[in-house]
Amino acid sequence: MHDLLGDDVPEPPVPEGPGLFGDAPPAAPAAAYRVLARKYRPTIFDDLIGQDATVRILRSAFALNRIAHAFMLTGVRGVGKTTTARIIARALNCVGPDGSGGPTPDPCGVCDNCRAILADRHPDVVEMDAASRTGVDDVREIIEATRFRPMQARTKVFIIDEVHMLSRHAFNALLKTLEEPPPHVKFVFATTEIRKVPVTVLSRCQRFDLRRIPVSLLIAQFEKVALAEGITVEPEGLAAIARAADGSVRDGLSLLDQAIAQGDGLRVTAADVAGMLGMADRGLVFDIMEAVLAGRPADALAATDRAHVLGADFGAMLGDMLELTHTLSRLKMVPDLRGAAELPELERTRGAALADTLTIPVLGRAWQMLLKGVAEVEAAPDRRAAAEMVLIRLCHVADLPPPGELVRRLSGQPGNGAAGLVGLAGTAGLAGGGGGGARAVAAGGAMSAAPAEAPAAASLEQPVITPRLASFRDVVALVAAEREPLLHGHLLHSVHVVRFAPPVIELRPHADAPRDLASRLAAVLLGVTGTRWTIVVSAEAGEPTLAQQGNAADTLRRQVAADHPLVRAILDAFPGAHIEAVRDPGVDAYGLAAEDVSLGEPEMAEMVPPAEFDAE
Ligand SMILES: [Zn+2]
Repeated sequence: MHDLLGDDVPEPPVPEGPGLFGDAPPAAPAAAYRVLARKYRPTIFDDLIGQDATVRILRSAFALNRIAHAFMLTGVRGVGKTTTARIIARALNCVGPDGSGGPTPDPCGVCDNCRAILADRHPDVVEMDAASRTGVDDVREIIEATRFRPMQARTKVFIIDEVHMLSRHAFNALLKTLEEPPPHVKFVFATTEIRKVPVTVLSRCQRFDLRRIPVSLLIAQFEKVALAEGITVEPEGLAAIARAADGSVRDGLSLLDQAIAQGDGLRVTAADVAGMLGMADRGLVFDIMEAVLAGRPADALAATDRAHVLGADFGAMLGDMLELTHTLSRLKMVPDLRGAAELPELERTRGAALADTLTIPVLGRAWQMLLKGVAEVEAAPDRRAAAEMVLIRLCHVADLPPPGELVRRLSGQPGNGAAGLVGLAGTAGLAGGGGGGARAVAAGGAMSAAPAEAPAAASLEQPVITPRLASFRDVVALVAAEREPLLHGHLLHSVHVVRFAPPVIELRPHADAPRDLASRLAAVLLGVTGTRWTIVVSAEAGEPTLAQQGNAADTLRRQVAADHPLVRAILDAFPGAHIEAVRDPGVDAYGLAAEDVSLGEPEMAEMVPPAEFDAE
């Protein structure tokens, strides 16, 4: 038989309990230190903390002698599934101190069966770890064993841990036995993944969902254990261990073991625990948090240095800040928490004060940024640099308008400080790969963001009048409108304009352009305008092609959009968001602005009144 709980510390034949049952104290050698998780493993139902519903139902089942043939215990790791299974095995087989008792909700702990099961050496209580024995043969062994009567117990108990790991064939083999179990056999299954257990098996078991144990209960339990061990643990340290235990008594007791080993044998300080967990000192986490949320990067980085010197890991530090952000949000939403014992003293006082200075949207954004930041630190070659970048970004979190406001500002709706938009002339379509925040952006639709150069408050308001054939682009657009796709493609990609002076156009076609390109263009223009145009083929370099200009302008628009403070704020606020496209209502199909400021063309000089065409 082996222990399935994972605390595989080798130990000598296990002494049974700390001498609580009147048996002589074990004559173990001094070196036989027992890990706390094992030493304080519950042996009776009433010792199972945080599992009240399960305990109540099991107790009454045993009291009424209406005991299921098979139990299914489910819950996350460390909540006491296997421990519960063993208590069930004892409850089934206890014969009482006088050897005449039957199944009982209160196993005595002193009869031969109780003691043998406590010591993991009862021949009729068989534990199997389905994680390592998944096959049908393993199950057949068990099924074979069910055919024999128990050797010394009333009931053979088969405890199968991580039962969801069994193969399909193994489950099928088991099913037959579960359908008609011999009267002297009980099964106790444990699993962390109940959904992987076939319904056919589930339906033949009484199911118990073991809960994660709340922090407050863990704190109380660890305090009791420390007291029994004669060790004082500072309350902050107990709380830190309880939080790190994440609902598991076993994990928490392992941590307590380690903390005790680090202390002087009598006392464990909060700093000992923090050091052991790689946590920043709680006070320092508050220092950093207060600094970033007040927009003081220098203070934040200084506090980070101190935390690092004290042994805090950068990732753990951001994790602590993430947790603190959650706590602050809860403090805001649930004022009663300020008096809750579940919260450490520091959170109740300093945390409550900090929470009062913050808004939920700010906390929400801080959460998003930290969540992203934790992942960044894990991925970065330089954890310190990554962590510092996150903190610096966070320093601006309080300045950021809430996401809804960002969207409104970017879409230039009135009444929201549109003055900040002067100079904006593009449209940023932001596609979020991230969470709900990104969806909020998407819901906001296309947003006009924009380059800072154009004095575009005016251009946003005044309709832009595009004179006909005022530029080569207009000519190309006309060709497209005339359904000359091939010619249009060549004009777009293979032609450099040297001079545009209607009705004369000088251009340099690429070598791959058709030889009759000039004459075809002239023909189209004549057909549409009634004017004879002169197309001169030149050897001068000329402008970039329209396609090149369009690409360059698009790149520029993206850069300008990405550099815009509001867009940056959005990118920071919504992890995973990226600029998908920058749409500018002021640009034409070629991606170029109607008034092509970037090319430095005078606005009106090129405008040729249609009358001049008619005149010729
Ligand atoms: Zn007993």
